This record gives sequence, C-alpha cells and structure tokens, in this order.
Amino acid sequence: MPEPNPPILLRNGLLATYTSDDSLLSTPTARRVDVLVENNRIAAIKEPNTIVAEGALVIDCSNKWIAPGFVDTHRHVWMSVVDNQEDWTLSEYLAKFFWTTTGIATPEDVYIGELAGCLQALHGGTTTVVDHFHCANSPEHIAKAIQATAESGIRSMLCMARQSFPTSIEPLEFSNDVEVSKMQMDIFRKLASKDHGRLTEDGRVTLGLAYDVQGYDPEEDRRVLSFARELNIKPITLHYVGGFHGRGTGKKARSWWEAGLLKDDCILAHGNDLVHNDCDPMEWEILRKTGASIASTPENELGMGHGNPITYEAVRRGVKVGLGIDCSSILSTEMFPAMHFALQWERGHQYNNIKAASAFRLATLGGAEAAHVASDLGSIEVGKLADILLYDATSVNLASCSDPFRGIVIHATAEDVEWVIVNGEVVKKEGKLVRKEWSQVAKELKCRAAKIREQLSKYDLDERYNAIVRQFGLPVAN
Ligand SMILES: [Zn+2]
Repeated sequence: MPEPNPPILLRNGLLATYTSDDSLLSTPTARRVDVLVENNRIAAIKEPNTIVAEGALVIDCSNKWIAPGFVDTHRHVWMSVVDNQEDWTLSEYLAKFFWTTTGIATPEDVYIGELAGCLQALHGGTTTVVDHFHCANSPEHIAKAIQATAESGIRSMLCMARQSFPTSIEPLEFSNDVEVSKMQMDIFRKLASKDHGRLTEDGRVTLGLAYDVQGYDPEEDRRVLSFARELNIKPITLHYVGGFHGRGTGKKARSWWEAGLLKDDCILAHGNDLVHNDCDPMEWEILRKTGASIASTPENELGMGHGNPITYEAVRRGVKVGLGIDCSSILSTEMFPAMHFALQWERGHQYNNIKAASAFRLATLGGAEAAHVASDLGSIEVGKLADILLYDATSVNLASCSDPFRGIVIHATAEDVEWVIVNGEVVKKEGKLVRKEWSQVAKELKCRAAKIREQLSKYDLDERYNAIVRQFGLPVAN
C-alpha cells in the first residue's frame, strides 16, 4: 500500500455542505467548524478550535470556506488536447471530431490530453469525474489514459468506451467493429479482474464502461451490458440526447428498460428530449423507478444545440441528477459555469425563484448520487472520503459575499479555489497544483495539439460534415 498522507486539520473554517438529511431544494446554513482528515477519510467535525491532532498539517481556515469537491458526472477528459471546437454544433462535433479526430489521436496525445484534463478539473475544484473515455482505440491508448489519470491525483470513474472508429464516412460504416470489440473487451476483462476494477492501488481510479453510439442492436446491447455487470464494471454511462442532432440515442432509456437492461448503475448524459413537446412521459418514470441517473451538462447542451437542459425537471420528478461540463475543448473546464447555466436557465424559463444553493447541491451531493457513489462522496460528513475544497473567502471575487453557498455558485471561479484535497492528499496548495508543474504540461499539450491540427489539415472536415448531414437528414445551423 502507498504511504498514508499525514492528518490534515482544517481549523475554524466556514463549512458549506449538503448532507443526506437536507432535501433537494432546501438551503442549509453554513457553520464554523474544525474538520479533521485522517488517512483518506473525514475523521471528525467539531466546534471551532476544539480538535487537537498531533503531527497534523494544520490549515488556518478563519478566512476560508470549506466545501466538498465537485463531482463532474459527464466529461471526456482527454479532449483537452484538441481545439478549434468552440463554435461547433453537435452534428459538427460528430462529423469533424468524433468520427475523424478520435481515429488519428495517438496514445501520447491521449496521455497529455488526459493529464491536462484531469489537472484542469482539479484546478477548478472538481475532485471526482465520470470520464467517458471515447478514444480506447488500442491497448496503448487505454494504458496511457489510466497512467495519466493516476498521475494527476484526481478521483476518476474511468469509463472505457466500447466503440470503434468508422472505416467509411459515406456511407457511415464500422467494418472492423468485431475485431475492435474483441480487443476492447479482452482488455476490459483483464482490468476488471486484476483488482476488482481498481486501476490504482488506493482505489482512486476505477474502471467503468461507456457504451452508446454503436449500441443500436438489442442483442449487442445485451451482450455488452451483461459482460460489464458480470465483471462488476460500473458505472455504465451513455449518451442520451434525442432532438434533431441525436435522435439515435433519444429513446435509449425506454429500449434498455424494455430489454431489462436499465439499472441503478447507469448514467445517461443529457436527456434533453425529455422536455420536448413530444417527450415520452414513461421515460421519466422508468428513470425514477430503476434508479438510473441523468448527467446534465447545460452549458454544452445549450451551446451545441442538444435542446433545453432538464436539470431541475429531473429534480422535480425525483430522478437522480448531477452536472457535468462534457468537453473542455468546447466549454469551460470548470463546474462553475455548469451551475450558472442550470440555475439561470431554470429561473429564466420557469420564472421561479429557485435558490442558488440548489445548484451547489447539484454539483456536489447531487453529482455523487447521480454517479451512484453518494455513500462515500459529495458532502463533508464524518466517515466520507476526504475530497475537500478550501475557498479564499477574502479573494477579489468572494470578499463581499458572506454566504458560501451563494458565493460558490454565483461568484467563484477556479482562481478562488485555493486548496484541493483528494482522498486525504493535498493536490492544489495555495492556488498551485502540487503533483505536476503546469508549465511543463502546457508545453507538451501545445505541441501535441499542433500535431493533431496538422494531421487534421489533410482532411476536408466540411465535406465530412456534409456527408453526415446528407445521410441522416440533419438540419444545418443558420
Ligand atoms: Zn459527451
């Protein structure tokens, strides 16, 4: 086992956390406390200036807010190595990135993309990520993704995608899928069997499955999902978009439920079709009953034309829901905008007075519930894993705000996240990442991103996009 980290005593900080006792739309009150972290868990929370802990790293939190780390329920972490995507619709993303760039990315590209992506997440206070890794092209790609994630120090459910790259774009064909499937499933089996799906010794990185795009065949769905469940690979995450861009994935909850495949280990990303006029109300009921959850990524869904976010509709309907950023190459790397978009969209279109703190819950305990890990994560309570943020309450952004729930949701940015603790280890200290020198990572990241751009210049991306539009009758954004 690795060396345990020294105890950490957070002295006299203002604690902002939801607990399982707080209802979904309640507004808890922050209180001043000491928090003691021992090994990788929260050992005690007591009145301020009362805990004594010999040998502990003591952090004076008189001017800090103590809060749980964010749980990002849907992110393609490796995409930090690609760029020029900020103006794309979802259809452009599919044609120009998903069915083009993923095929040329090398294991080294994946390594630096994953490393940078995990560090960006940590910098912004995301301590846990459900990583939908859709570049599992070879054993080397998979090994590099695991290596980089482990090196970063983040907690990750690294969900390997069972999918292959197209062999033809028009017609869209995946003629080597059988071969790729065998390679991927052999590796998933090995990884799952080695240490019960733990990809790092301390259990911070675990194996999950991402499975959607090629899952239109019910027999193949059954084969892949049964395989994952026999090996206890979880969560199982999939895209579930609907609307005009993603119609192929729009009815997945219902079709999986009818086949007996939808369970409480599933995370469905987006779900925008559930608020369209022709939505299937049974799908909400199916999600609630099975315990399958929604990963809502409102900034990305609005920006790329998935449809309107369903975040608060899911809360109202009793369906587990968390937030995510989706792609750092297209959206912010931080969870703060995800909270803004979810909250302000809800207020704007429903004209209601929903409280800001509810978005804090979505990004922390709600995310842990949606990722099916709330017994260990998402709040600061004795016995839970120690994934903790310390905000500088005297910062330029936060100094004038006295309530940490509202301050974190409305005013904070990554710059205000001063300390980040994951699994009892300090990974960001006084504003600076600890495990890696960012300037070195940035240098390699820029170099790899330039190589990908150069490769992509050999493709006619617009023609590939037009080919997809022609085949699937997609509308073109005006
Ligand atoms: Zn996605």
